[in-house]
Amino acid sequence: MTTKNPANKALRKKAEAEVKSTPLSSLDLTMDKVKSLVHELEVHQVELEMQNQELRETQQLLEKSRDEFSDLFDFAPVGYLILDEKGTIININLTACHMLGVDRIQLKGKPFSAYLKIGEANSFFLNLRQAFSTGILENIEFIIHRKDKTIFYALLHGTVDTEPNGNKRICRVALQDITEVRNMKILQEQHEDLEKENIKIEKYNQELEKVVLERTKELSDALESEKDINEMKSAFISIASHELRTPVTIILSSVILMEKFKNIGDYNKLDRHIQRIKLATKNFTSILDDFLSLEKLEKGIVRVKKETFDILDFIRILIEEMESILKPEQHIHFSHEGNPLILQNQKILHNILTNLLTNAIKYSETDVEINTINSNGELTILVKDKGIGIPEDEQKNLFKRFFRAENVKDFQGTGLGLSIVKRYVELLSGNIEYVSTLSKGSTFRIQLPDK
Ligand code: ADP
Repeated sequence: MTTKNPANKALRKKAEAEVKSTPLSSLDLTMDKVKSLVHELEVHQVELEMQNQELRETQQLLEKSRDEFSDLFDFAPVGYLILDEKGTIININLTACHMLGVDRIQLKGKPFSAYLKIGEANSFFLNLRQAFSTGILENIEFIIHRKDKTIFYALLHGTVDTEPNGNKRICRVALQDITEVRNMKILQEQHEDLEKENIKIEKYNQELEKVVLERTKELSDALESEKDINEMKSAFISIASHELRTPVTIILSSVILMEKFKNIGDYNKLDRHIQRIKLATKNFTSILDDFLSLEKLEKGIVRVKKETFDILDFIRILIEEMESILKPEQHIHFSHEGNPLILQNQKILHNILTNLLTNAIKYSETDVEINTINSNGELTILVKDKGIGIPEDEQKNLFKRFFRAENVKDFQGTGLGLSIVKRYVELLSGNIEYVSTLSKGSTFRIQLPDK
C-alpha cells in the first residue's frame, strides 16, 4: 500500500507505534495462528482500502456540490450580500462585487454604507435597524457611489435570519441595479408630462383659434360696413352725376330757351318751360329727399309721432301732387273702405305712398290705382299698375338698396325708393308685400296697424 498522502503517512506512523507497543514476540503464536492473523489483516486492509475509496468519492461529490453552490451564489443575476447589524459586509457574491466595482477581498468586513452619500447612509441605517426588529428589509432605493465616482440606482430588499452555525443575526440582502428601469420611468414620466403639456398647448391653441376667429369676424364685419359705406358713397356719386344732372340739365336748357323766347317776345311758349322746370325741380328734390330719408333711417333718428287725420283728404292731396308726373292719358283712381279717420304718422305715410305711386306711374303707361281699407284697427293700402312688371328671378332683391331690375334701364331712378319704403313700413310696425308679373303689372300691398 502506497502512502504518498501526508495524512496517510501520519496514520501509518501511529499504527506502527501501536504495533510496536505490543511486540509479536511477546505473543504466544503458532504458525496457524499467524496465518489466520495475516489473513485477517489482509481482509482488513482490503476493507480499509474500499472505505478509503468511498470516502474519496464522497469528498469529490462534496467538492462538486460546493462548487455548484458557490457558482449559484456568485453568478446569480442579482447582487447578494450578507450584512450584520452594523451594516458590515460579511459576505458578498461576485455579481454585487461587480456592481460595486470592487474585489471581494476589499469588501468583506467593510461597511456597506461606504458606498452611500451621508444623507442616504443615515436612512440606510434606519432601514437596517428596522429590518432587524421586524425581520424584513423593505424595498429601498439608493444611489450607490462606486469608487470610480460613477453611480447607479440600486434597489435593496431582504430578510433577517440567524447564521446557520452560530447565533449571530444577519441580514440577507438582494441588490438590484435599477438604473435602466428608473431611466425608463423618468422617460415615461417626461413623456406623460409632455403629453399633458401638449394637451395644454392644444387647449391654448383652440382658445387662440377661437379668438382669431372672433377677431376675423369683427374685422370682416368692420370691412363689410366699410364696404357698405363705400358702396353708398360710390352709389351716391353715380346717382349725383347721372340722376341729379338730368333735372339740372332740363332746368338749364328750359331757362336758356325761355330767355330766347322772351327776347323774341314769344311768351306763349314760356308756360311749357315753367312746367318743365317745376317738374325737374321736383324730381331733384325727391332724389335729395330719398338720400336724406335713408341717412336718417340708417342713423335711427326718425321719430314716429301719430295723429288722427282723414285719409280721403290726405290721398286727394297726394294725387294732386302726383299729377305733374302723370303721362298723357294716365290717371290715378282712388277708392276707400271703412272709417276715413285714421291714426298714423302722416309724414312717413306720405313718403311711402309717394314712392309707390311714383314707381307705378313711372313703370306703366296706363292708369294707376290706389285703394285704402280701414278695418279692425288696421289700414290696408294697395297701389296697382298695369306696367312693365318685375322679372321673377330679380324679385328677391327688390328691397335691397340700389337695386334696379334689368328691364328699367331706360327709366331714370336711384334704386333707393323701395328700400326706404320697406324701412318706413317696419318703423310703423307694418308689413309690405307685392305681386308682380312681367309685362302685366305690379301690386304693392301695405298693412299698418293704427296702434
Ligand atoms: P327706382 O328709383 O329705380 O325706381 P326703387 O327702389 O323705387 O328705385 O325701385 C327699385 C326697382 O324695383 C326699380 O328700379 C324697378 O326695377 C323695380 N320696381 C319698383 N316698382 C316697380 C313697378 N311698379 N313696376 C315695375 N318695376 C318696379
